[in-house]
Amino acid sequence: MIQRNPHIANLASGYLFPEISKRRAAFAKENPGAKIISLGIGNTTEPLTPHVQAGLAGEVSRLGTKEGYSGYGDETGLTELRAKIASVLYGGIVAPEEVFISDGAKCDIGRLQYLFGERVAVAVQDPAYPVYVDGSVMIGAAGAAKRDGSGYEGIVYMPCTAENGFFPDLSLVPANALVYFCSPNNPTGAVATKAQLEALVKKANEKGSIIVFDSAYSAFIRDPALPKSIFEIEGARTCAIEINSFSKPIGFTGVRLGWSIVPKELLFADGTPVMKDWTRLMTTIFNGASNIAQRGGLASLDETGLAETRALTDYYLGNAKLIADALAGPNFARAGVEIFGGDNAPYVWARFPGRKSWDIFDRILRECHVVCTPGAGFGPAGESFIRFSSFGHREQVEEACARLAKLQLG
Ligand code: PLP
Repeated sequence: MIQRNPHIANLASGYLFPEISKRRAAFAKENPGAKIISLGIGNTTEPLTPHVQAGLAGEVSRLGTKEGYSGYGDETGLTELRAKIASVLYGGIVAPEEVFISDGAKCDIGRLQYLFGERVAVAVQDPAYPVYVDGSVMIGAAGAAKRDGSGYEGIVYMPCTAENGFFPDLSLVPANALVYFCSPNNPTGAVATKAQLEALVKKANEKGSIIVFDSAYSAFIRDPALPKSIFEIEGARTCAIEINSFSKPIGFTGVRLGWSIVPKELLFADGTPVMKDWTRLMTTIFNGASNIAQRGGLASLDETGLAETRALTDYYLGNAKLIADALAGPNFARAGVEIFGGDNAPYVWARFPGRKSWDIFDRILRECHVVCTPGAGFGPAGESFIRFSSFGHREQVEEACARLAKLQLG
């Protein structure tokens, strides 16, 4: 028989979301009448907007005609979409040929890990979106090995805490490493400032490391002083790759569409452009994003589409404000709860001093019938925190907030 891939065997079991589901199901079984509301996961809830929907539907109709039908497209995406992303979302600071269209940011993270292979060192913010670590472990990067407690041997965890403003100590950035950096951040909701990103870029260039900049939530940034792209920072073209997605800005979590930016100046140690290998990899193991999705994405980037994107992201940010206000209530203040994020990101990150994330999760589930996400599930530095997601219908969020306001933490 074929041996199990040791790298996959090395993965700790998927703990966070399965455990949340298990606890939710057990509670629902004991309390069949409870109307449970989820502020737990980062999945979009609001319908497609009309103009974007028309973009998708128009392509479906075209594909149903002899003249309009097309089969496989270019693996790197529609030329028109690449150009539109470069001009509309990046104001021309990246070139269309540096934009690679894909079926989403998560898939791109997986393919990038494959691109860099198992010999690369890996650093992540702690807490972090789980795919950075799990995907790295799966390909055996950095010789990652399971260890007791949380985290893996071989992966460099860079704590992002309230004390350091959720920005890591850059002396931890290893040499010749992939450095995963997410801003606006999932789960903390923190957005790195220009000065912080300048320091990160400087450090990566000094260390010969590459930043994988995940800006999947950039459409939620409202403060004009905060960078939406790492390429707004001087020096980033020699040390960064960016990945982004249509999932959260226009509700394409199920439709699937994303992109990566690989600048021409980014090189491997032997002088080979990273872009050359990325093109080779994408054209070999990826067959192009859906033509329907790409037309929907294009529609989202014209004037009407951008207005719809703004309204949709405003809606979720409105939810985030309601959640943050509820958590600022007297019952939480008495327990010393501190609130972060939520103003330029769809996540509110709340610290419950002296308490364990899972204990708070259980109390909120039992007493408010609300599901949230324990921060400890995103990494060791997430202990004592809870992530509240703003992806939900307004009336449900309002109801959840009213229940939270009555929680007695005592
Ligand atoms: N990156 C971050 C930080 C995310 O939180 C998510 C989804 O929750 C993704 C990437 C995945 O995006 P996509 O739907 O494009 O795969």
